[in-house]
Amino acid sequence: MNDFLISVVVPCYNEAENIPVLLNRMKNTLEGYCYEIILVNDGSTDPTQQVIDIVSLKDSRISYLSFSKNFGHQAALKAGIDHAKGNCIVTIDADLQKPPEVIPEMIVLWQEGNDIVTAVSKNQGQPLVLKRWTSSVYYKVLSWLADHQIVKNGADFRLIDRKVADIIRDIKTENLYLRGIFSWIGYKQAIICYKEEGRHAGRTKYSLINMLNLASNGITSTSIKPLRFALAAGLFFAFVAFSYGLYSIIMVWLGKTVPGWASVVASVMFLSGVQLMVLGVIGEYIGKIYREVTHRPAYLVSKTNIFRPSVNPKEN
Ligand code: UDP
Ligand code: MG
Repeated sequence: MNDFLISVVVPCYNEAENIPVLLNRMKNTLEGYCYEIILVNDGSTDPTQQVIDIVSLKDSRISYLSFSKNFGHQAALKAGIDHAKGNCIVTIDADLQKPPEVIPEMIVLWQEGNDIVTAVSKNQGQPLVLKRWTSSVYYKVLSWLADHQIVKNGADFRLIDRKVADIIRDIKTENLYLRGIFSWIGYKQAIICYKEEGRHAGRTKYSLINMLNLASNGITSTSIKPLRFALAAGLFFAFVAFSYGLYSIIMVWLGKTVPGWASVVASVMFLSGVQLMVLGVIGEYIGKIYREVTHRPAYLVSKTNIFRPSVNPKEN
């Protein structure tokens, strides 16, 4: 038996069918380790809570946090990390796309001195070429905007050391974007590859809208470069307008007529579009500031058994 505690955090949103299978595989994998599993029920509308109640009664190493409504994947991860007691904390999805059998390899890397071990899918998992391509472009743009490398395909399957978990716990923001935080945070990091499997049951909770929201949140929480584009675009268009004005004056001075209003209408419409886009970008940031100053918590827990007296590491 090792003398450290591993916490495994599993965000669950309508994952009733997957939880028992995941727990079985986890138990087999983590045999011989001292561990706790925290299931975070993110406002599920299927029997996830009933399943959690049953499994947590049977095994004192399993605890749970149930949210008052659906707060989202990132909030569920933060809640689990906030409440984890382990020396290291592993976050893994409930749908078995990420194999729990990789966890011992992550632990070895942690024992070798790495504070963050991110698991990256080597087969990218995405069956759709378009989704794969957009995701690859997105990570490139995001890494460039953020000025630091954001691990591509590192979809929140990672191990973090206690000290990193303490930092995450102290970050009080309603709109958390963990991938951005982990790329900004520094510390000794390692990457491990795994083969992504198909979802065991149910379907993805990330609709196109959810994905776009996560993508936009990712950009606005990691970088303020989009705001600087407004300045750069303003300078560029001012320069073009000035040059065109100068050109018109010279033409009139030379006795030539400057052609028509169509170009004026086109440029006014184009610039209105650019201005509205810039306003939209500024609006995104202001909206974010507004939400932050209201100091709303990232999640609300309606039910938990996490303050139970003890975790019995020897139980099997
Ligand atoms: N999830 C969650 N809240 C949500 C959406 C998802 O807790 O609002 C959980 C979900 O149950 C799963 C993990 O986050 O354990 C990843 O979600 P999903 O498998 O739907 O994402 P994908 O793998 O398709 O990117
Ligand atoms: Mg999944």
